[in-house]
Amino acid sequence: MKAAVISAIGEPFVVRDDLTLDAPLGREILVEVKASGLCHSDIYVATQAGLGTPVPIVLGHEVSGVVLEIGPDVTEFAVGDHIVACLDGYCGHCDRCLVGETNLCRNYPTGTQRTADQPPRLRLGGEPISQFSEISGFAEQVLLHENNAVKVPVEVPFPQAALLGCGVTTGAGAAINSAGIRVGDNVAVIGCGGVGLNTIQGAALAGARKIIGIDLLPDKLELAKKFGATHVVNPAEQDPVAAVRELTDGGVDHSFEVIGNIKQTLQQALGMLAPGGTAYVVGAQSPSQIMEISPAELLFNKTALRGVYMGGTNFKRDIPLYAELYLQGRFNLDDLLSRTIGIEDVNKAYEELAKGGIARSVITSF
Ligand SMILES: [Zn+2]
Ligand SMILES: [Zn+2]
Repeated sequence: MKAAVISAIGEPFVVRDDLTLDAPLGREILVEVKASGLCHSDIYVATQAGLGTPVPIVLGHEVSGVVLEIGPDVTEFAVGDHIVACLDGYCGHCDRCLVGETNLCRNYPTGTQRTADQPPRLRLGGEPISQFSEISGFAEQVLLHENNAVKVPVEVPFPQAALLGCGVTTGAGAAINSAGIRVGDNVAVIGCGGVGLNTIQGAALAGARKIIGIDLLPDKLELAKKFGATHVVNPAEQDPVAAVRELTDGGVDHSFEVIGNIKQTLQQALGMLAPGGTAYVVGAQSPSQIMEISPAELLFNKTALRGVYMGGTNFKRDIPLYAELYLQGRFNLDDLLSRTIGIEDVNKAYEELAKGGIARSVITSF
């Protein structure tokens, strides 16, 4: 099959056609990929040398498609089902999974991987290569454990469905699951890209009072309003901390840092909190970034700083929920989708994503 391969960190994607997948074992499903979204995390992994990522590797983890074949122990899926893949797989039997907190699974990610005595799922030119996030979605097909996938209604178009697998769930889940926003809470979201727009949308669904979108790009601020921002702030024009404090009579209950890599914005997220508020780290930060925190400030303001990974999702519950709200016209996926591309365009699309203008490109032809 065909896939976009990274052979060395820092090198561009190369489309190759000499990849093979094993047949499904146990609880695995083989899926024909219909749409595969270009997430920031993939290009981050493709370019950051310090992460220890094994190469060659097939990246991509925001996938929708159709089940082609199922393993002998699969009970949840049938051939022909439409699915969305999610990298936040879980074992299903540890104490966290048993209470529904699959996002905190004690056996992540080994719970959905093959064991060392089993053949590898993916090969390149006949040689075994490791799967990225148990998915490797920049490819014509993927072979997944059933706890890395969820069924979605056939009425949801594949490109929109793919976005549910990472960006949407990360953003909306941060607001709904991790922050547990209540009716009347005030919220600020720093960074109005694909994930930030969904945090705004999640805050609106949860009944937040003021939702303040913060971004340097005017186009993104316009989009933020479409997703439910009641106010927008451009840090190029005004100090975002002062602006948020003024708009909310002293600060927000929840501030989300959705940019990553920029410690200045995380300091701002803490600075704009009302007493008792929480700042959430949502954007992927480089492991080398260190920030200074004043424990006295946390103490006297009774504030907190918390990391949120994949929106604290139980994805088998959340993705069908967002899909249904989309079909009801209450959840916006259409405006997240900038355009569909062919797999050969992946390098060019990532260059454009880096410039910041595009919400999301999705590969739909292979
Ligand atoms: Zn578990
Ligand atoms: Zn992602």
